[in-house]
Amino acid sequence: MRIGVDVGGTKIEAIALDSAGKIAARRRMATPRGDYDGTLDAIAGLVRELETETRTRARVGLCMPGALSPATGLIKNANSTWLIGRPFDTDLARVLDRPVRLANDANCFALSEATDGAGAGARVVFGVILGTGVGGGIVVDGAPLTGPNAIAGEWGHNPLPWPRDDERPGPECYCGRRGCIETFLSGPGLARDHRVATGEDLSAEAIVSRAGDAITRYTERLARALAHVINLLDPDIIVLGGGLSNIESLYDEVPALWSDFVFSDHVATRLVRNRHGDSSGVRGAAWLWPK
Ligand SMILES: [Zn+2]
Repeated sequence: MRIGVDVGGTKIEAIALDSAGKIAARRRMATPRGDYDGTLDAIAGLVRELETETRTRARVGLCMPGALSPATGLIKNANSTWLIGRPFDTDLARVLDRPVRLANDANCFALSEATDGAGAGARVVFGVILGTGVGGGIVVDGAPLTGPNAIAGEWGHNPLPWPRDDERPGPECYCGRRGCIETFLSGPGLARDHRVATGEDLSAEAIVSRAGDAITRYTERLARALAHVINLLDPDIIVLGGGLSNIESLYDEVPALWSDFVFSDHVATRLVRNRHGDSSGVRGAAWLWPK
């Protein structure tokens, strides 16, 4: 049995996953915001409850926004800011009395889809979260690729490639630069693009349901952004997740557009929608302990 825990800014979710990938038990609770020891206790409590219910001792993996810095062994880049600068994995290993594995949400998403989701059986999977932010994760032969900086796949803060004149220098990004892929392809980025073009303030969901010009621009920008990834990584499959992965037309239209930018006579990479949806965080966390 594996236990996967998804530590979000508002809730912590935990599942017990059997070896066939079936969820045997599930727990959810509000995140003790701002309380580091409380967060450790909450996770330990959820693990204990799941182990009691399933009558096993499990391996535990964690998914969180943010990463362990290989340089310091401490959490960095987390929007749950009370975890930043803490040795979260070693503290958890202590309270749970076992080693734990930890990965960021994009890596967990990619791993979940690569293991038994839409990317199952593919050798190189690029998983993309198109939501409030834009993140990416890479899985090769069933294992997440992290790298010495723990940022492999984080292309959301690369610039939008092959920009048109009206896309330069691009919107300001919280990372301090302008024109990042995230500023165009996140939900807030889509809403901004629609607002600038029409003067109308709409949510990303409303813009998606109308399927107008903003979606046409979004589709073409996503094609360029992914062509960049294909040129560098040449993945077998690209899996989309997050709220904007619900734009049905992307799956036909983006591959029709990206061939103009990919340096190849033919593009065999497939673009697919995720299978596990909101469960990809907990499922990917559990699969940090491979079969
Ligand atoms: Zn940025």
